[in-house]
Amino acid sequence: MLTLQSRWQKATLYLLFLVAYVVSGHALLFFTVQSQVLPIWLPAGIALTGTYVCGLRFLPGVFLASAIFNWSVSQTGALLAFSWLKVAEISLIATGAMLQALVGGLLLRNWLGNPLFPKSRIHAFYVIGIVGIVVNLISSNVGVASLSLFNPHYSPENHWTNMLFWWLGDSLGVILITPIIMVLVQPWLKNVAHKPRSWSAVIGSMALICSVAATTYMYTKNNQHNATQVADREAQVVETILHRHLGRTLLAAYDLSAVIYQDPHLTLPEFKLAAAKLRRQHPFIKALSWNVAVAPADVDAFNKRLQSLYGNDVAIKGAPLSENDPRVVVTYILPEADNRNALGFNVYSRPDRKSALIAAELSNTPQASGILQLVQSSNDQPAYLLFAPVYSSKIDTKTGNHQIGGFATIVVDAKTIVEEAITQSNAQMLNVALYESGKTLPFYQNRGSEQPSSYPYTRERTLYFAGQTWRMELSLRDEFISNLNHQQTLMLMILQISICSLLSLLILLFVRQSEALNHLVEVKTLSLAKAKRESDEANQAKSRFLANMSHEIRTPLNAVIGFASLAKITKSSDELHTYIERIGLAAKTLLNLVNDILDISKIESNKLVLEEHDFNLSDVLLRLDSMFATAAQEKGLTWRIEHSLPNDCWLRGDVLRLEQVLINLCSNAIKFTSRGKVVVSVQHKIEKRYFKFAISVADTGIGIEPSKLEVVFAPFSQADSSTSRKFGGTGLGLAISRDLCRLMGGELKINSEFGVGTTFNLELKLPVGKAPATQVVNIDNQVLSKLHILVAEDNPVNQVVIKAMLNSFNIEPTIVENGQLAVNLVALEHFDVVLMDCQMPVMDGYQATALIREQKSKSTLPIVALTADVMPEHKAHAEAIGFNFHLAKPLDRDKLGELLMRLATS
Ligand code: ATP
Ligand code: MG
Repeated sequence: MLTLQSRWQKATLYLLFLVAYVVSGHALLFFTVQSQVLPIWLPAGIALTGTYVCGLRFLPGVFLASAIFNWSVSQTGALLAFSWLKVAEISLIATGAMLQALVGGLLLRNWLGNPLFPKSRIHAFYVIGIVGIVVNLISSNVGVASLSLFNPHYSPENHWTNMLFWWLGDSLGVILITPIIMVLVQPWLKNVAHKPRSWSAVIGSMALICSVAATTYMYTKNNQHNATQVADREAQVVETILHRHLGRTLLAAYDLSAVIYQDPHLTLPEFKLAAAKLRRQHPFIKALSWNVAVAPADVDAFNKRLQSLYGNDVAIKGAPLSENDPRVVVTYILPEADNRNALGFNVYSRPDRKSALIAAELSNTPQASGILQLVQSSNDQPAYLLFAPVYSSKIDTKTGNHQIGGFATIVVDAKTIVEEAITQSNAQMLNVALYESGKTLPFYQNRGSEQPSSYPYTRERTLYFAGQTWRMELSLRDEFISNLNHQQTLMLMILQISICSLLSLLILLFVRQSEALNHLVEVKTLSLAKAKRESDEANQAKSRFLANMSHEIRTPLNAVIGFASLAKITKSSDELHTYIERIGLAAKTLLNLVNDILDISKIESNKLVLEEHDFNLSDVLLRLDSMFATAAQEKGLTWRIEHSLPNDCWLRGDVLRLEQVLINLCSNAIKFTSRGKVVVSVQHKIEKRYFKFAISVADTGIGIEPSKLEVVFAPFSQADSSTSRKFGGTGLGLAISRDLCRLMGGELKINSEFGVGTTFNLELKLPVGKAPATQVVNIDNQVLSKLHILVAEDNPVNQVVIKAMLNSFNIEPTIVENGQLAVNLVALEHFDVVLMDCQMPVMDGYQATALIREQKSKSTLPIVALTADVMPEHKAHAEAIGFNFHLAKPLDRDKLGELLMRLATS
């Protein structure tokens, strides 16, 4: 869950989102491609991120912001106009925006662990594909539905196209603005683990917004330019077609005049026949008449003619405008029934018609009257009269021209003829209005009082027709522009969406990748720092260890050197004996130290291998007792070993290692205890072929602080730095002991109370063993003295030591100082045994043995390796070369004696 840092930050951010929604919405109106189509709708992205950051409490904000924006754009004309329809429309649109923000925000919270840090790569795809694109179907569908339900000006023909544009606009807005807001709000978020300061994401998204805005702007401009050009062409087409159709009315008038002209004695029925035919041909003809020109002198005679044709009620009507004016009398008319009133009417009595008639007569072409309404009460049947002159055969004496006989007249339904013209052109897409010259109200327009087009385009054309001047006004309808550009706009938006989605996806993946890298670097740096700390600590431990070691080595060496120098000058053989004994003890201490170090290095390199022998646990305890009883007694401690083991408690395992652990524990117990007691107790249990036992070594010594209980098991570690000064030791004992126990399949545990005492518990389970056949080797110097032994040893001191040891068995050995000499000598002389040092100059022990084995087998000449290499693999190697036995340096006199005894008696 994201949380903001403080209350005021929450409030500020909430307000900022609201303002940004409305302001960015208004700013984007600049880019409207056509009415209601905004190619980038950034507020959708603002609503989404607002909900993502502020949570569900931002939803009322989205509703409010959407309502404010839509109200403000729909009320441009009348700010205070209020209608329930408008309220319903705006509320539904706002609800759509709110729903979309809710779904998108929740999904974002699920998929973007932290701002701009998708949980995984696939989540980056979800964010762009689903939140960026699919979710926006909500607002677009609800919005368009709201318009179609509540907006009276909404044209439903383009419903799905509008939905599509709305959807794409929202998607582009979400994809572009979301990364920017995410980065900007990051400093305000409290519990964000990774705060990628991805300014690259902001810059990238800004660049995208700018390029989309620029493209859209240029595209809009280009569209308008195209629309103007197309509209100009259309206007030209409309004008031409209109002229052509008006021309058809002239032809109809000519046709009628020709009929009359050809038959000066045309009867009423003949007229009606011809006129009816014309009417059928031309639906725009409302009526046709033959208006006869009557000289003032012939008025009475003409009245009579009228009466003979129509009865008494028809006579010439309409007083002449001036006395000498001729009368132009409606004589024949079709349809007669509808126009009976017009019969006998003197058309010359109306000034506008009079001028048209004069013009027609003079020009010998049909002339039109002004626009008149056929049904006087309503305004929607504009018409005009066309007068075509018909000349008689009589010649005017004054002018010498034919006299005018009358005017073939047709009444043209202006609306019908104009609409015929318009349907033949593309003018459905244009608003067309026709005005008589000097009039402000059109006599014809192809649209009701609809909303003016949002596109500023009007063109005016003047039409000259049959003596009349008309003005044609053209403007563009919204459909015209949208129809013109639908395909292109759609293509442009899809292209923009595709590019922006792809780039935003790359931005997300890039941020994720770089953050993951940063994280990795952080982790690595930490682990490096840890490793450095550990290595520093190890270095310190090593320095401490060296200091301890030097102290530990110096102490016994001091004893060796000191007693050796005393031994040189003493005369008393008792004293000499004591000195030598002390030197022996100090040397053993040194050997133990070296053994410990070897052990720990073997354990650490996993090279320590346990051996298996049958051994008696009671004997082990006895040896332990004899080893420590005196030391304990000397310190005034009570020393006790408690157990109820049977005497022949035989087990199978590495007894030396078990003893090593127990010796460590007991020596620690005695070392760290100044008064009280040290008790070793053993609990045991036999389980089938296994022997389970627990040995505890408890003391009443200094104890160990709880915090140090684990530390003491680490190699070279002591409970505190003063331990070594006070008690000596290197801190290896427990480390070796614990590892040995584990190797034996057991566990060494510690229980200690500081200042009270410590108890170590060792639990083991070993297979039951059996008592070996007793084979006590008694060293018999008489037997040994018969042995002829060759010793190959290069070191003079060691030569002296081994010679002295062999002498102590009454053996006088032959000594050579390298392997080559040994090989030579063996070839020449007979020896019972060869004691061969392994590391020697000229030829080492291994080579020499290999050469000897070429002549003498193991049974003919036993060769014993004397070496400091005590690792098992060295032993195996030596055996493979041809050595019979192996004795570790420093040599133990007893072990040497036993071996020689065995060889001598075998
Ligand atoms: P080393 O055994 O190598 O000669 P050491 O005895 O100091 O040296 P460990 O046997 O590993 O080393 O013991 C480590 C440390 O544990 C000791 O230095 C001592 O501080 C503490 N310790 C071990 N046994 C006892 C005990 N019985 N009572 C109090 N402290 C003990
Ligand atoms: Mg110890």
